[in-house]
Amino acid sequence: VDVFEFSAEKDVVPTVVGQVFDTYVICQQGEKMYLIDQHAAHERKRFETLKKDYEERGVSGQILLAPIVLDVDSSEMRVVCDNKEKLSELGFEMEEFGKNSVLIRQSPLIADEEEIKSLAVEVIDILSDARPSGLLSFEERILDTISCKYAIKANKKLSNIEMEVLIKDVLELEKTGISTCPHGRPTFIKFSKYEIEKMFKRV
Ligand SMILES: [Zn+2]
Repeated sequence: VDVFEFSAEKDVVPTVVGQVFDTYVICQQGEKMYLIDQHAAHERKRFETLKKDYEERGVSGQILLAPIVLDVDSSEMRVVCDNKEKLSELGFEMEEFGKNSVLIRQSPLIADEEEIKSLAVEVIDILSDARPSGLLSFEERILDTISCKYAIKANKKLSNIEMEVLIKDVLELEKTGISTCPHGRPTFIKFSKYEIEKMFKRV
């Protein structure tokens, strides 16, 4: 009986309360209130998805309609040439194009040219210094860099459906014990009804 009540309590359907400062989403689930950082939460979700793809079959890239020319210096060129296989596992196809540039034919992110270029530069930079940093391996640093660019930004108004999807993702990740972004910052802060009542000295 206890186990049933526990899981029944956990699976109360969450409701969207709204968004504050165009950055935080508030949701109620039973006797709990979640204050969610929309960027951090979405970044973590993207990161988990990309990491799973990477481990199973590599990140799938999108072939660009028009290849992008990226100017590089000689050490960046070396990193690209030495890491073609790794880059392809991460969703990039790049090749030498003349002495001082590379051609980006495929990218893990659909975005405008400038955004793809800046992602490529960051990825090349991480590959040139392939060491773990903080909580993350260098592959995870790259996957997080991609996820961060993918993710909903702060200061963006969300529709109800976008909030519902985000909340669903947050609650699913919480069940697997994940409550932070890849760098360890919280993706949500949870308040119980009791805690809130205590703050207002009702209990
Ligand atoms: Zn980010």
